[in-house]
Amino acid sequence: MPDPDRYVLISALQHYAYCPRQFALIHIEQTFEENLYTLRGQRVHEKVNIPENERIAGIRVERALPLWSHRLELTGIADVVEFLADGTPYPVEYKSGSRKPRDADDLQLCAQALCLEEMLNRAVPAGAIFHAASKRRREVQFDDELRSRVSETAQHIRQLILTGILPHPVADERCRDCSLIETCMPHAVRDFHRSSQLNNPFLVLEDG
Ligand code: SF4
Repeated sequence: MPDPDRYVLISALQHYAYCPRQFALIHIEQTFEENLYTLRGQRVHEKVNIPENERIAGIRVERALPLWSHRLELTGIADVVEFLADGTPYPVEYKSGSRKPRDADDLQLCAQALCLEEMLNRAVPAGAIFHAASKRRREVQFDDELRSRVSETAQHIRQLILTGILPHPVADERCRDCSLIETCMPHAVRDFHRSSQLNNPFLVLEDG
């Protein structure tokens, strides 16, 4: 019998891969802040958040398709899944901005593919990220390394939820576009930890 408490949201994988602290602030501490990027993201998702299906140039297109994997204990919603002429599912994730560091979007898309494979018993070798700003698609191949990272990241997330410890801030270029920067205070927190470490050389702190 599946344990619903163990299921990880596919969107949480993307947050964790981008920054573990961002994941913890959103999914453990329930923090959410609007910024230009979140507002753009909402606009981009307005159409694909409505469940519907249609045929475009002979291709079946499903929007807001619920996804799950009992094997990996994942759940979520695909923005768009196209079904190619031979029936192969092809997930497409909509993003308002440009490519994210750490391939966080690729990981999210691969998790969708793994769910589709389990649900439909069909191989899903590739999908695409649609960047609304450039109106271009970037195809992602789901290789073994990316597939392994999905289950590893889900395990890290479960461990983090169990410990409830807020990770240190990454305090790098990722923070500039992060809507949580005001709440997170990455540079102030990093400096505080560094000064604590200097004052207590026996205290070992992880870098972000
Ligand atoms: S501001 Fe930086 S450290 Fe804080 S959650 Fe965002 S990306 Fe992570």
